Amino acid sequence: MSGKKYQIVQLASMGQEIDAALAERYRVLFLDGHEDVQGQLAAAPHASVAITSVRKGITRQTMAALPGLRAVCSWGVGYETLDMQWAREHGIVASNTPRVLDDCVADLAWALLLTAARRTHVGDRYVKGGQWRSIGAFPLSTRVWGKRLGIVGLGRIGLAIAERGRGFGMQVRYHNRRPRPQTDYGFEPSLAALAEWADFLVLACPGGPQTRHLVDAQVLRALGPQGILVNIARGSVVDEAALVQALERGELGGAGLDVLANEPSVPAPLMQMDRVALMPHVGSATHETRADMSRLVHDNAVSFLETGRLLTPIGDD
Ligand code: NAP
Repeated sequence: MSGKKYQIVQLASMGQEIDAALAERYRVLFLDGHEDVQGQLAAAPHASVAITSVRKGITRQTMAALPGLRAVCSWGVGYETLDMQWAREHGIVASNTPRVLDDCVADLAWALLLTAARRTHVGDRYVKGGQWRSIGAFPLSTRVWGKRLGIVGLGRIGLAIAERGRGFGMQVRYHNRRPRPQTDYGFEPSLAALAEWADFLVLACPGGPQTRHLVDAQVLRALGPQGILVNIARGSVVDEAALVQALERGELGGAGLDVLANEPSVPAPLMQMDRVALMPHVGSATHETRADMSRLVHDNAVSFLETGRLLTPIGDD
C-alpha cells in the first residue's frame, strides 16, 4: 500500500494478529516503541484515526500534530490518560473497550477479596515453606459469606462484582454520585456511611482528578479494624499514605490491591504486610479478555473509517 496516504496512526500495538489485520486493510503509521513518536507525526497529516491504549494515552500535542484526526480508538475502559477535553473541543470523538472486560475484572476483585480475607497468599507460603509440618495449624482468618459488601462505583464492573456477592449470600450496597436505576442494591449517598456499614469495601469507579483520594483517612477509619479494602479501580482513588498509616495502626483490617498510586512502585510497608494482597494491575489480563479488547479496538477503527461511527464511543452510556 505504499504511496497511499496514512489513514491510521498506531501509538500502541494491539497484538500481532490485530496489528496485521489493520495493516492489511489500511495504511498504518505504526509508532509503538518508536523513540521519537512526536517527530514522526508530520508524515500522517491525513490520518483520521489514532489507535492508543489507556496506558499510552494521547496528549493534546499529539492530536494537534495530526490535522486530519477525527477519532481516537483506545484500548482499556479507563480514559483518564486521553485528553478528552481537548478532543471534544476539536471535534475528535473517542472510543474505549467497555463490557468485554467486566467479568474478568470482577473475578479479580473477588480473588483479592477472598485472598485478603482468607489469607490464601500466606497459606500458600506456609505450606510450601514447610511450616504446616513444623508449626502445625494455620491461624484463623475472616469469614466472607453472608457479610456486607460495599461497592464504590456501581457501573458495569461494579455491577458484575455485586452479582458475585449475591452468590456469597452477601448484602450489597453502593455509592455513586447518582443512584443507579433498575437495581435493587441499596444506594448510599455518603461514602463514609457506606464504609461504616461495610465489611468489605470494593472500589470500581474511574480514576482521574474527580475521584482523587476519594478514599481518605476518614473513610478508612469508618471501614475499621475488621474491614477490608479492595481496589481494582485506580491507585489515585486512595490516599495511599493514609492507607499505609491505617494498616500500620491497626485501624484497617486488610487490603487487596490490583492498582497503586505510582505503579510499578509499591510503598515499602505494603510489601511487608501479610494483611495486604497485591497484584500488578492485571484486572483484565486474561488471554481471552485481552484478545476481545484488541478486537474491539480494531472493530471501532474499521467502523469509523467505513461508516464514520464508533461502536463504543466514550460517554455514550
Ligand atoms: P462505568 O460503567 O463508567 O462505571 C463507573 C461507576 O463509577 C459509575 O457507576 C459512576 O456512577 C461511578 N462514579 C464515577 N465517578 C464517581 C465519583 N466521583 N464518586 C463515586 N462514584 C463515581 O465504568 P466501568 O467500565 O465499570 O469501569 C470502572 C473503572 O474500573 C474504570 O474507569 C477503570 O479505572 C477501572 N478498571 C480497572 C481495571 C484493572 O485492570 N484493574 C480494568 C478495567 C477498568 P456515577 O456517574 O453516578 O457517579
